[in-house]
Amino acid sequence: MDYLLRGIERYVAAGECPVCREMWEAEEAFYRWFDIEYYGSLSLFEQVSRGGFCAGHGKKLAAYGPLLTGMYQFVLGGRLKLLDNYRMRLGILLMSVWRKLSFLLRFLHRRLDKMLAADKLCPVCEDRESARKLCLIMLHRYLAAPGNRAKYGPNPCLCWDHLVDMLATSQDFAETIFLVEVHLGQLRDWEKQFSEYFRKLDYRFAAEAKGQEQHVWHKALRFSVNQAKVAKEE
Ligand SMILES: [Zn+2]
Ligand SMILES: [Zn+2]
Repeated sequence: MDYLLRGIERYVAAGECPVCREMWEAEEAFYRWFDIEYYGSLSLFEQVSRGGFCAGHGKKLAAYGPLLTGMYQFVLGGRLKLLDNYRMRLGILLMSVWRKLSFLLRFLHRRLDKMLAADKLCPVCEDRESARKLCLIMLHRYLAAPGNRAKYGPNPCLCWDHLVDMLATSQDFAETIFLVEVHLGQLRDWEKQFSEYFRKLDYRFAAEAKGQEQHVWHKALRFSVNQAKVAKEE
């Protein structure tokens, strides 16, 4: 766990959201291991059979080309059996005496549909989610250690989604207040920089030297990127 704390220290010093970074690292590790052994791993095959990859990660995985053949032979074989089984049960249902009670038939039919529904997350999304949860725990630990709030305060680096996650999982009221105050200060500072940007667009002040206000849009963009969407659409 110490390596995670050291990582958090580095990300805080670099102004990078530690949770986003750890989720990205988890995803990269998945792809590295996919190349080495996951492509032939039965437990991964089973997980994919019960949910599949999300659209974004499926698109990335397509880069492995024919290496995916074994996995999808397994997955599609499972789907074929499932659908065949579904058809058989549907046939039994339609032949039964219950078919005359249409509300009961609809109810039993809906229950049958559940056997086709996915019950597992995309494996890459699942690894990202585990990394998110672990990093939140470690970040609370980091902020509880002496001296670390003084390091975090001047350069708050959490993105909005992970700030919200930190506030939702905080067990320490002082830490909650600290995070809210620090990020309020950051948002107020950015608000001033936005005003400054538009003030300098006015021809009367256009000759003034340009400063930080020229880059505030980028900081705001990084801060407010929707992490759930990153996982599904990148
Ligand atoms: Zn983040
Ligand atoms: Zn995914």
